[in-house]
Amino acid sequence: METSILSGLEASKALYSSLESRISHLKDHGIVPGLAAVLVGNNPASEIYVKNKTKKFESLGLKTDVFRLEETVSEDELLSLISKLNTDSEFHGILVQLPLPKHIDSEKVLNAIIPTKDVDGFHPENAGLLSIGKPRFIPCTPKGIMFILKYFNIDLNGKHVVVIGRSNIVGRPISILASLKELGNATVTLCHSGTKDLKFFSKQADVLVAALGSPQFVDSSYIKTGACLVDVGINRIEVDGKSKIVGDVNQDSVTGIASSLTPVPKGVGPMTIAMLVENTVLSAELLLN
Ligand code: NDP
Repeated sequence: METSILSGLEASKALYSSLESRISHLKDHGIVPGLAAVLVGNNPASEIYVKNKTKKFESLGLKTDVFRLEETVSEDELLSLISKLNTDSEFHGILVQLPLPKHIDSEKVLNAIIPTKDVDGFHPENAGLLSIGKPRFIPCTPKGIMFILKYFNIDLNGKHVVVIGRSNIVGRPISILASLKELGNATVTLCHSGTKDLKFFSKQADVLVAALGSPQFVDSSYIKTGACLVDVGINRIEVDGKSKIVGDVNQDSVTGIASSLTPVPKGVGPMTIAMLVENTVLSAELLLN
């Protein structure tokens, strides 16, 4: 079987094109969608993530500012910055790059972001809206996965979607989205580290979402012929002394057995950034409505 590649680069380009008219409509009303990115400390991976995100905003003519705070910043100082950004009309979205230093309660900080600017979709109000089927801001990675599947005409209706991983940022929200009648209408199984006999479930999947954070974990023995595989993982491994990024799927092992597959890199990753842009545009649009 030929395994087709579901390119996140291609799908994200289509999304950016569709955003152009929405952005110019906002600009006609004097609104430039703006993102405030809060970066605490000098974590190299966080620096790269924030740079990639802000670069994309700039290339689309959107506003973005990075608020840098020292690793030693107090929780109160960080909360006070969030409080200022909550009322700053130039920013329609606030992103706090995780992880935060250990002395800061991340949940408290994320919950301090006003839900109407919570473009990451992590606030309990937005998580609650999603779980009752009335989503406002959907977390960017699962939203990107839904987009990429739709873009490549992979219909979830009546299919069995198996998700490996139940985090609040990927696994759980994608399981909700796929099961919602209006969006996925799939039958969903959510697996995690407590799942007994993972292969029993994964081998039933028409669409398997691997979001467990374990390099190349899912090989051909976990899937059925013709399955669509969504590889969410971003794992850095050493190969011949060189650092390399791989997903949670062993892509060589499943090629020829899976019907389609999101690559790593250039699969779900670009979609995550694209959806951050989309959520920020959406947030600005909510001002017009
Ligand atoms: P978390 O570590 O928060 O969650 C991992 C989940 O996988 C947990 O629910 C855990 O179970 C489950 N799990 C771990 N090992 C197993 C196993 N052997 N069998 C079954 N379930 C298992 O990770 P995230 O959800 O934040 O991220 C997952 C991956 O996706 C990572 O590689 C991350 O880097 C990547 N990622 C990629 C993004 C992108 O844009 N492409 C964005 C966000 C994340 P339990 O709950 O029991 O601990």
